[in-house]
Amino acid sequence: MSPPAIRVFNTLAQQKVPLAPIVPGKLGIYVCGPTVYSFIHLGNARTFTSFDVIVRYLRSRGFEVRYVRNFTDVDDKIIKAAQETGEAPQALADRFIAEFQKDVAGLHLIEPDVSPKVSTHLPEIIAIIQKLIANGVAYESNGDVYFQVSKFQGYGKLSRKKLDELESGTRELAGGDTLKELKREPYDFALWKAAKPGEPSWPSPWSAGRPGWHIECSAMSSKYLGETFDLHGGGLDLIFPHHENEIAQSEAASGKTLCHCWMHGNFLDLEGAKMSKSLGNVVRLRDALAKLDGEALRYFFLSTHYRQQLSFSDKMLADAETRLSYFYETLKKTDERVAGKDFGQGPVHGEPERFEREFHEQMSDDFNFSGALAALSGLFNEVNLLCDKPPVKDKAVVGRTLVALRAAVGRLASVLGLFQDEPAAWLLRRRERLVVARGIDTAKVDALIAQRQAARAAKDFAEADRLRGELKAMNVELMDTPAGATWKVIPTLQAED
Ligand code: AMP
Ligand code: ZN
Repeated sequence: MSPPAIRVFNTLAQQKVPLAPIVPGKLGIYVCGPTVYSFIHLGNARTFTSFDVIVRYLRSRGFEVRYVRNFTDVDDKIIKAAQETGEAPQALADRFIAEFQKDVAGLHLIEPDVSPKVSTHLPEIIAIIQKLIANGVAYESNGDVYFQVSKFQGYGKLSRKKLDELESGTRELAGGDTLKELKREPYDFALWKAAKPGEPSWPSPWSAGRPGWHIECSAMSSKYLGETFDLHGGGLDLIFPHHENEIAQSEAASGKTLCHCWMHGNFLDLEGAKMSKSLGNVVRLRDALAKLDGEALRYFFLSTHYRQQLSFSDKMLADAETRLSYFYETLKKTDERVAGKDFGQGPVHGEPERFEREFHEQMSDDFNFSGALAALSGLFNEVNLLCDKPPVKDKAVVGRTLVALRAAVGRLASVLGLFQDEPAAWLLRRRERLVVARGIDTAKVDALIAQRQAARAAKDFAEADRLRGELKAMNVELMDTPAGATWKVIPTLQAED
């Protein structure tokens, strides 16, 4: 049975619409990337992870996806940050692009096909501004160029704002009264800004200056995906003014619809407010990754639908890692059970494919991450049942079913970017982190385990039990396996922190 057709929530239509590629079998997606003046925080990471999983899923369904995510490396915030550090603005931006790449590697984000930067697309940006002036929707004013909002009929269609309710886009308000005098109407926004002394600039027909924030995405999306493309994404805060202005610019320049479907991810909150650099309530991605596995963070992000708010807390993250560790333990156990064995051909128990079907039902319905995780969880429950309390006696049937379920885990998990690691290696790394976090004396653990082995060899089971209890008091749980005793840090205590 083929998986269901994909439906996507389109912010513009305010409803789920069927995914209908412009070119059959192909999809172009543009995601607004980071403004590189600082380290990224978990809020940014959530949005980029959402689109990472969306692209992975679309590819898994056979679409040839061209994924473009830009870097805003020319911006007022970059200039301001560079004034504070004493660096050249471009050097600061390049430094934070490199830091971004390092950070997202820990999250295992797939590389976009194109990651264009503003600083290398000035000719394209200037060309589209010239077109807007020629089309009569933009005007020069004292070396600046503004988009005349009232000249674009559809303005407000994405954010559902009415012109008379609007002042200008937030980022342009920084210029205050002087800026108002330069504009014909208060809600007009800058396409080009003349440089003030000491600011970085590029030559243009109007002045030595730099582009406004929004025009870069119009210029770069049309260069890499064409004047009309399939999907455009970003966080909710970009709907207005950024995406509203992108629509105005692109559609006024080309006369065509910019994209078929607008996708917006909801916020990650910290202490009841959107995590944001301006509020100062941020947790940097790299600080989170220093404490726990990137996969746990990914699992935490996927616990909620991308269009719903998600609240961050250390406990939720620790819980996500604990849950992930149970899954990895199940995988380790299954792999040990089936490795190198041939269970032959024949029937399997139950219907292993039902979890995969459920997974696709969920992901096809506007990428319901949490529903997809629930399907994956169901798969793990079934694996555990077969390993621990098999409902059938026939070992070959159990083995074949486990092999089928394990393969399904592999397929679904790779779509979500989870369980890409070798289970034993992942579990050992986590144990090492917990050992450090809880200050566990591993030399003492090893000594107690050796004493217990000796007690067992001497058939002194009371002493062996006492030593197990002593280890437990250190938050260490002993596990006897065919390969000998191993141990783990008791995870629930970590989750209570
Ligand atoms: P910026 O670098 O501020 O332009 O943000 C990069 C991306 O992160 C944009 O798509 C934003 O919408 C998104 N973003 C910023 N803050 C949050 C947050 N707290 N939760 C989710 N996404 C966010
Ligand atoms: Zn953008």
